[in-house]
Amino acid sequence: MKPTSDLKQTTLVDRSLDAVWHPCTQMKHHESLPLIAITKGKGAWLYDEKGAALLDCISSWWTNLFGHSNPPINQAINAQLEKIEHVMLAGFTHPPVVALSEKLSALTQGNLGHVFYASDGASAVEIALKMSHHFWRLNNQAQKKKFVCLENGYHGETLGALAVTDVAIFRDAYGSLLQDVFTVPSPDARKVLAGESSEDVARRAAKTLAELLEVEHDNIAAIIVEPLVQCAGQMAMHSPEYLRLVRSLCDQFNIHLIADEIAVGCGRSGTFFACEQAGIWPDFLTLSKGISGGYLPLSLSMTTDKIYRAFYGDQARQGFLHSHSYTGNPLACAAALACLEIFETDSVLEKNIERSSDLANAFAWAKEDARIEHWRQQGMILAFDVKIEVLKNPTTFSREMFSSSLKEGLLIRPIGNTVYVMPPYILSPEEAMKMGSSVKHALEQVLA
Ligand SMILES: *Cc1c(COP(=O)(O)O)cnc(C)c1O
Repeated sequence: MKPTSDLKQTTLVDRSLDAVWHPCTQMKHHESLPLIAITKGKGAWLYDEKGAALLDCISSWWTNLFGHSNPPINQAINAQLEKIEHVMLAGFTHPPVVALSEKLSALTQGNLGHVFYASDGASAVEIALKMSHHFWRLNNQAQKKKFVCLENGYHGETLGALAVTDVAIFRDAYGSLLQDVFTVPSPDARKVLAGESSEDVARRAAKTLAELLEVEHDNIAAIIVEPLVQCAGQMAMHSPEYLRLVRSLCDQFNIHLIADEIAVGCGRSGTFFACEQAGIWPDFLTLSKGISGGYLPLSLSMTTDKIYRAFYGDQARQGFLHSHSYTGNPLACAAALACLEIFETDSVLEKNIERSSDLANAFAWAKEDARIEHWRQQGMILAFDVKIEVLKNPTTFSREMFSSSLKEGLLIRPIGNTVYVMPPYILSPEEAMKMGSSVKHALEQVLA
């Protein structure tokens, strides 16, 4: 007979808690909060070890566009795997990275015709920040090295990206390691005063920015913004008017505009790029998350011919000497190409108009609920805030709501008191309805 301790089954979850340090998590919370082992995915659904299904309402951290285990994307990756899995991009190139760069450039009508690759979103942000400052150095304005960022903005968690991030839980512990930045008001439409429109909030925010630039423009390289939705900042949405005003201030004061579309790009906001809704182009545009359909790590920073030209010369040091080992990985580029192909052949942006109205209908109940405020939607993102005063414990609401939703067969991860969904673009009207009614039920349990 074995001692009883050996008979005790060790589950995948137990082993994970022993050996894997999970991201963005207080590990001790897993003493009460379940960790879920996923062994399969199909369409909008994830399946755990026991086969229980979860509707992926947040696209696995905003990455998955066309469902899990999508046949055309699987096939594109498999086909590429038979050819070349990876080759360094310094001194070498390959068909998927060329085709992807050309397609992305065409999507900006050539306005952002040069694509620099990395693997994760934070690195794409670092690239844009470094390139911006380096451009000014090359133009004998090396003093232009400060960045302007928005209150409540999020751009990733490496030290450079974190410096331009204004979300306390990510930033507070590392504040002393970060460079100084200028933080200006967010045009968050939730800030409307009586009688104001979201455009008025945008104009107010832009006015404060103008006052800063008036004084400091000589020392500023760029401003970085998340166009239309500050996603990690509780899905705070703003008027496209803000982007138009920022673009014109950047032109007036000779400052770069970095549009971080890592979360809002790839159709999430309703157009392929969120900036299109303002009718402007930035000097740098970053993409990641959805670009590979949620399959493989891939990020990129696109820029203009003017900026590209400034780095072009005989001296090595005039070049942009930045690299990551997996930059432009062929498998990831093949997945991205397969996604862009789906956008074209399935008229995804047109169909998403209907899918967003399915979402709106499924969550219509929340508009009427007196415990809820700031119901908002931008394309395939829908969010609302549960009033702080109805929460028993505002600090644990997000975790309670997560657990309560699991029981309903849903994966959602509220941010503070903001409940949001950001589903894959393949959601059926029935799945949308289930999402809406199950979120309602889960919320009733938490508030009961
Ligand atoms: C997620 C995100 C990032 C960081 O991307 P990672 O791949 O997590 O490093 C940067 N900016 C925005 C707007 C994001 O949503």
